[in-house]
Amino acid sequence: MSKVVLVTGGTRGIGAAIAEAFQKGGYKVAATYHGNDDVAKSFTARTGIPAFKFDVADFAACQKGVEAVVTQLGAIDVLVNNAGITRDTFLHKMTPVQWMDVIHTNLNSVFNMSRLVIENMRNRGFGRIITISSINGQAGQIGQTNYAAAKAGVIGFSKALALENAGKGITVNVVAPGYIDTDMVRAISDNVLEAIVARIPVKRLGRTDEIAAAVLYLASDEAAYMTGATLNVNGGLFMG
Ligand code: NDP
Repeated sequence: MSKVVLVTGGTRGIGAAIAEAFQKGGYKVAATYHGNDDVAKSFTARTGIPAFKFDVADFAACQKGVEAVVTQLGAIDVLVNNAGITRDTFLHKMTPVQWMDVIHTNLNSVFNMSRLVIENMRNRGFGRIITISSINGQAGQIGQTNYAAAKAGVIGFSKALALENAGKGITVNVVAPGYIDTDMVRAISDNVLEAIVARIPVKRLGRTDEIAAAVLYLASDEAAYMTGATLNVNGGLFMG
């Protein structure tokens, strides 16, 4: 029987590429999103993948959202924590709202969603939890104390959760992308982006399908011995 995958933020950018790659791989896929109804509608129309609207930063909303996915597709075998936002500014200018928005959406969401699927995965003796971190959570980045803290946080979270569930058929891993060609990166000004690309050893932005391929591998049966790991997919920009 096909495995069920839930991809948060799966209607555009990296998440959409991940959702479509799972669909091509024969999985049953649910994508979630937050506010962009038009993009979600055209994503579903194009792919046939159902889109569920809820805020991953809100535990109660996640609870309802996960219930809706399970009712429609069945128990979740693979959770991909992909949804994320940036609110970039130097710390000396950052508001508490900019800090908390990023922590809630990029870090607390990973607790919310993982908490809601982990018990069932333990009971069933199988599960894959894959979280999208960032090179900037590993190496730091100017203007991103909030984002770097959240993205580093998910790496520690995943290692601890991997240990707790290593004997239960569940693996917990992280993919840390470098700079990938999506709306998030297109929002960076042209001159800053040019300077970034010049520093990337392979001299180009990454593609969303290159992140999706790493996620698909981590979800596979062949990756059963890999847990608590972080896969860097960054064109050689960071090799820590
Ligand atoms: P996009 O901005 O293109 O897409 C973000 C997705 O997340 C959208 O589907 C969006 O929904 C959803 N989302 C945002 N906030 C919420 C929320 N509160 N609740 C539910 N869904 C939400 O992002 P990318 O594809 O660029 O990034 C995907 C992930 O990869 C993020 O975690 C990002 O931090 C990480 N990453 C990206 C890199 C890059 O170069 N692009 C590099 C390293 C990491 P909606 O459409 O409704 O807004």
